[in-house]
Amino acid sequence: MIFCPLASGSAGNCTFVSFGGTRLLVDAGISAARICGALRQLGLTPADLDGVLITHEHVDHIRGIYVFTRKYGVPVYANTETWKGILRRDADIPMEKRYAFETGMDFYIGNINVLPFSIPHDAGEPVGYLLSCGGLSAAVVTDIGHVNEEWIGKIAGAQAVLLEANYNVEMLRNGRYPYHLKQRILSRRGHLCNEDCARALIRLYASGTQAAFLGHLSGENNSPEVAYETVCGMLREAGIRPGEDILIYVARREQVSDMVVLEIPEERRRVFF
Ligand SMILES: [Zn+2]
Ligand SMILES: [Zn+2]
Repeated sequence: MIFCPLASGSAGNCTFVSFGGTRLLVDAGISAARICGALRQLGLTPADLDGVLITHEHVDHIRGIYVFTRKYGVPVYANTETWKGILRRDADIPMEKRYAFETGMDFYIGNINVLPFSIPHDAGEPVGYLLSCGGLSAAVVTDIGHVNEEWIGKIAGAQAVLLEANYNVEMLRNGRYPYHLKQRILSRRGHLCNEDCARALIRLYASGTQAAFLGHLSGENNSPEVAYETVCGMLREAGIRPGEDILIYVARREQVSDMVVLEIPEERRRVFF
């Protein structure tokens, strides 16, 4: 399984996942041209994709979907409320490329099993995704107001995760955002702070997570260094060695990030292929 954020942050989100010949994007929040450029860096074109999964209708998750799907005909998957939001902004997505799923019900795209699950965020029907194949799984969970048993239980055991580390509480509180925006971000349906991200990762590590991208960093109220140091510091306090017990990467805001490659263990490989 190849897992690679192409862009991650309040300015635009898009993550690439590939397994067993099936290739997907989660979100298309950067321009179609930038998605194509990022795919080119991986040696791919839009024609190599089997679908785009949308988490929710905020513009940093759907900005590029219209041009991208009209131009390249890639199928788009979202739940009913998210579809309403997508089409309210621009209804010009070909009918035959629209796929609707039910939150909480898993389905297949090619060889990848897709489980969309509910997350607490101020959108119509926001979801995170668990993507599994051959005993391996990766999860994308950003735009989460708080950690709850519902979503953390769904991704327990995922070997790789992209988890939100949106802000440093002090930077947000003392920063220049207007009061109402600060309150929105801090709320239980807003975004996840670095410390809560670390707490979630400590639990996920215990469930078997081996690699994590810290993602959806705020350009204003966080920095890659602050997020990385906060999370790694809290992991160390919990007796977990970053870089040895678990790999921690910061997903880049504007560029293609490092790539996590997960291999199926030898004994399972025979069963799967
Ligand atoms: Zn977002
Ligand atoms: Zn959002």
